[in-house]
Amino acid sequence: MDAQQFREFGKAAIDLMADYVENIRDHDVLPSVEPGYLINALPQDAPEHPEAWQDILKDFNQTIMPGITHWQSPQFHAFYPTGSSYASIVGNILCDGLSVIGLSWLSSPACTELEVLTLNWLGKLLGLPEEFLHCSSGPGGGIIQGSASEATLVALLAAKDKTVRRITKSDPTLDEDYIKPKLVAYTSDQCNSSVEKGGLLASMKMRLLKTDSDGRLRGETLKNAFEEDISQGLIPCCVIANLGTTGTCAFDPLYELGPVCNETDVWLHVDAAYAGAAFLCPEYRHLMRGIELSDSIDVNAHKWMPVTFDCSAMWLKNGYDLVRAFNVQRIYLDDIKTENKIPDYRHWQIPLGRRFRALKLWTAMRIYGAEGLRKHVRDQITLAQYFAKLVRSDDRFLVEPEQSMGLVCFRLKEGDIVTKKLLENITEKKKIYMVAGSYNGRYMIRFVICSRLTKKEDVDFAWTHIKDEANLLCSDKVHTKAQLPAINQIVAREICEKSK
Ligand code: PLP
Repeated sequence: MDAQQFREFGKAAIDLMADYVENIRDHDVLPSVEPGYLINALPQDAPEHPEAWQDILKDFNQTIMPGITHWQSPQFHAFYPTGSSYASIVGNILCDGLSVIGLSWLSSPACTELEVLTLNWLGKLLGLPEEFLHCSSGPGGGIIQGSASEATLVALLAAKDKTVRRITKSDPTLDEDYIKPKLVAYTSDQCNSSVEKGGLLASMKMRLLKTDSDGRLRGETLKNAFEEDISQGLIPCCVIANLGTTGTCAFDPLYELGPVCNETDVWLHVDAAYAGAAFLCPEYRHLMRGIELSDSIDVNAHKWMPVTFDCSAMWLKNGYDLVRAFNVQRIYLDDIKTENKIPDYRHWQIPLGRRFRALKLWTAMRIYGAEGLRKHVRDQITLAQYFAKLVRSDDRFLVEPEQSMGLVCFRLKEGDIVTKKLLENITEKKKIYMVAGSYNGRYMIRFVICSRLTKKEDVDFAWTHIKDEANLLCSDKVHTKAQLPAINQIVAREICEKSK
């Protein structure tokens, strides 16, 4: 393929994607394909001879598109959003066009420096304490990780290294083989699966502590857990707090957890993967009160900001904690000395190589402007509030807990089995996509405003569809009133087991 064909292929692909976004409502949000459909539809071996780009786009339309779950559809209300915008897509194209690897400053100075700059921009917009920014006089700063999962793992590994250094310094008779198995990490029973997985990957025991009735990990619970473990000879090492849990978007009180961690020299990492973007709006910053007591915080720009995956913004109070933990030198990595003014990001992350991801953050922040980013967050919260109001207007349903950010959790009052059946029926119809959650042991449906394209009419459409399906279900003779209490108890037990 030569440059001319690249131009034609690229322009056709952009046209295709612009048409896709414009007409996205024509697709059911969920695809109608069976497992193995694509594997069986495409050749089993790579082509021996070059093929025409026109044929590739034809196959894309005919075979790939039918197997797409439309995450950007206004009827995608599952999980949490994955960000997108034209601005960010173009940033990604520029990144791929340059195809640089920013493993050191000289390997592409702009790659490192734009990341430093955009993370200062974003950190300031979120109202983070200055010490987390590269532009402060201290050792703090931000980095773009691939995902919140990686950020958690990086925090755990850095905390492990820091704790071992601290203990061996104060008692040189102890060695790391003795200390490491005793280290413990803590989070709440509402943590994202990636946090628990982080413990597995970091080979550190991870305790999922019980939350209060609002899904928050409280300071007293954490303190008791520390005391319990210390009395058994274990060593508290790292706490992963949640600002915006995946289940119900609950916010742990950092102002309670922070002092407990600080008193015991325990690393406090804050997982604000989804809800962190809300701090763009000053009216939500009270939810991160105590953030100055943390050591690191992660916000997925690729979730609730109009930035395409992957772009997980992580800030640290002391970047040297990472450098000390992850610095492995080779002669071919010797570089121009930047006199510690500019980070060598390869020491701040797991892989050696790194894409120029700051470009898409930069294009998105410039095209939207701070006011556009704040409007995006506020509009989505307003739509979620509107949906919650619709649900409350129907006395068969309950919104529980209170709507938080773009998330509304709801269920049928009639019980778990019927709520579960309602979600199954809706998923089968493929018109809207939601997933389940649990709250205080009850099965509920999570409805999230995800797509930047979602409008009030789309919320009306979703609610009408949910109501219609509820009408059908309530007229279904299988679930007679007499059967329901017993079945509900079984489902409730299942849910409690799963949520452990
Ligand atoms: N933390 C929270 C609170 C989440 O909701 C999610 C994903 O939804 C994650 C972490 C994992 O994010 P990532 O896919 O970027 O690792």
